[in-house]
Amino acid sequence: MKGTIIKVFGRYYTVEVDNREVISVLRGKLKVPGDTRIFSNPVAVGDTVDFHIKDDGLGVIESVDKRSNIFTRKDGVRSREDIIACNLDQVVAVQSFGAPEFNLRFVDRILVRGVKENIHVLLCVNKVDLVMKGEKSYIKSYYNGTGVEIKYVSAHSGEGMDTLRKSIAGKRSLLVGYSGVGKSSIFNRIYPGLDLKINDVSESTGKGRHTTTNVRMIKLGDNTELIDTPGVREFGLVDIDPNELGNYFEDFREAAQNCRFRPCQHDHEPDCEVKRLVGEGIIHPDRHISYLNILYSIQENIRNQY
Ligand code: GDP
Ligand code: ZN
Repeated sequence: MKGTIIKVFGRYYTVEVDNREVISVLRGKLKVPGDTRIFSNPVAVGDTVDFHIKDDGLGVIESVDKRSNIFTRKDGVRSREDIIACNLDQVVAVQSFGAPEFNLRFVDRILVRGVKENIHVLLCVNKVDLVMKGEKSYIKSYYNGTGVEIKYVSAHSGEGMDTLRKSIAGKRSLLVGYSGVGKSSIFNRIYPGLDLKINDVSESTGKGRHTTTNVRMIKLGDNTELIDTPGVREFGLVDIDPNELGNYFEDFREAAQNCRFRPCQHDHEPDCEVKRLVGEGIIHPDRHISYLNILYSIQENIRNQY
């Protein structure tokens, strides 16, 4: 039988098939799709699996289907790369005006991962009823040349909710965002009765490494699937080669062809075209600072290895 993993808890996996949920374990010799990378978790939310149900009702997962994509994180050189979820249509990064203040560096980390794994990222900025003068144009110029899709919404006033609903309908979306941005308000408004509880205990206990256990998929009637990530607050990029990081900044990519050094890390190198465009105001200086911030965190992790 084929089913979809909707939740992982310790060594138990919830498999969904025909609106039924079967608690399952992995077969000893599980077949996973060939991938040169080694992950901390062999099976993740979003995986399609082959399984059977034993007489006692427990499911046994035999194999995992090939994945169309994986959204991962790697927080330290010594820790393994975690699969947060897979087979996604998009990632929805939720931020807000007012409080908590929007954090584009956090969004940039999600974007790097999305671009690397070829997963569309939608930036949804909530509480637009609280927007201050200049904030929208700041975000627009920050993401100039990146192609990132931005939606401004308000769960309170209802602004932008229809277009957001259209962008998630019929798709499988991974939702990321700190608590307080209004994730529950938005999705409970779009899907009344959904009761997206993200402020549960898991949020406070979910810090630290390998806390992908609270990730769960919510299936809605119209083929819409939402994967919530309470407790997943860090999106480490330590697996990325510092020389390749710039490739995942879409607004840098074309310019990088004209840097004197190749590869160029767009940091201290002379005749760097990316830095020239920053100077000209074509690439936003804060976006470049955000890039350097990620670059240094990767370099520091590599140094700590020795
Ligand atoms: P979550 O932790 O991301 O799920 O956020 P909640 O949905 O619990 O909302 C956090 C707080 O933000 C609550 O006090 C909400 O009333 C408030 N909030 C949510 N959406 C909006 C909005 O569109 N505008 C304003 N002004 N406040 C909002
Ligand atoms: Zn450069």
